[in-house]
Amino acid sequence: MYYTMEKETLPREALEQVQLRRLRDVCGRVYANVPFYRNRLEQCGITPADVTSLDVLRRLPFTEKQDLRDHYPYDLFAVPMENVVRIHASSGTTGKSIVAGYTRYDLDIWSEVMARSLCSAGVTRHDLVHVGYGYGLFTGGLGAHYGAELLGCTVIPASGGATKRQVHLMRDFRATVLCCTPSYALHLHDTGMELGIDMKKLPLRVGVFGAEPWSESMRADMENKMGLDALNIYGLSEITGPGVAMECLKAKQGMHIQEDFFLPEIIDPVSCEPLPPGSVGELVITTLTKEAMPLLRYRTRDLTSLDYTPCPCGRVFARITRIMGRSDDMLIIRGVNVFPQQIESLLMECEGITPHYQLVVSREGNLDALEVQVEFAEGTLDDADEVRKFQARERNIQKAIKEFLGVSAKVRLVAPRSIQRSEGKAVRIIDTREMT
Ligand code: AMP
Ligand code: ZN
Repeated sequence: MYYTMEKETLPREALEQVQLRRLRDVCGRVYANVPFYRNRLEQCGITPADVTSLDVLRRLPFTEKQDLRDHYPYDLFAVPMENVVRIHASSGTTGKSIVAGYTRYDLDIWSEVMARSLCSAGVTRHDLVHVGYGYGLFTGGLGAHYGAELLGCTVIPASGGATKRQVHLMRDFRATVLCCTPSYALHLHDTGMELGIDMKKLPLRVGVFGAEPWSESMRADMENKMGLDALNIYGLSEITGPGVAMECLKAKQGMHIQEDFFLPEIIDPVSCEPLPPGSVGELVITTLTKEAMPLLRYRTRDLTSLDYTPCPCGRVFARITRIMGRSDDMLIIRGVNVFPQQIESLLMECEGITPHYQLVVSREGNLDALEVQVEFAEGTLDDADEVRKFQARERNIQKAIKEFLGVSAKVRLVAPRSIQRSEGKAVRIIDTREMT
């Protein structure tokens, strides 16, 4: 039931001692090795020697996604490149992705938190784990993979795509655990039904679903349709990947954040002031042990709250509630992070179109669909030749979005002035996906 029982059930005072020791250590490492942090800490008037209690945390500087972009690709690394053994990155146009680096030790810790996560879901070495998260720069696939292997499970590295084949493999290999995004799990289920393969009749018993928001009613639906316990897992590449927080099977109520490695806070996204347990705000995480790319007070932009009340499973770690939204405009389309500005910059490179656009996100079946509506410029549709050019333009934008952001979108050029103008901030996103 526990992967590392002693660490996961430490009394809180002892846990806080570990956190404090590690916080001082990480501050020392970034102060010595990362000019960006040395400057920031100096601006805050703090040296590593000042970190004598956890209260100092609230005086440390925040780190934003933009800081990672500004230091692309390696300038926030705290170790020489020869000690970095893996790179991951979240999608984005060249020069704008978020890069994460890992030392051997970082990978070991990541596997450990993932193994702990699987254990808390009731997974054991006797399980066959079908990993349907994408393998590659995205952390989902490899993260789940190494954690499951460390636990001693039999791992089936299916990755994303080739859905019919995956369903056949799940049946033939007798997978007992499915790791993938919740929307892909539903897609696998529906594809199975079309093929006459009912997941409910397979040995499948646990689903480890994450990387995108989902709801309690989706959980009920999946458990009912697929005959498994559907559990929520949270992570982000900047911090490590999947396994930062995971629900336990025992309580199924909130995700235990692995506090001995990731120190959580909740802040008011506007004032940046820390909020008390139970209040909803933005999750901020300080990595306590990461070597390659330690982050102080990283603003995840994910909205949630922290619950320190004891959990029936016995774990000491606080729980975060389901992610309730974001304090920025990042969209997650089929697991890929997409910012409207990224689409905007691709649109701006095209001739004959205007900066007036809207992103319409919906669900087709169980999969997210993105439509980009953008106005063409006045006077560009006067003859047949122009119509052909117009259609080619739609295809080109579609191709560019797929190529640079890794997400399929339908592009529709619409008449000048047909997108509603707003008096304040432009309404860039219409999200009709049902989350409740
Ligand atoms: P990435 O770094 O590409 O893995 O994306 C990380 C982001 O995915 C997080 O900041 C969240 O916004 C989102 N995410 C990951 N896991 C979950 C989850 N279980 N529920 C809701 N959103 C999630
Ligand atoms: Zn628990």
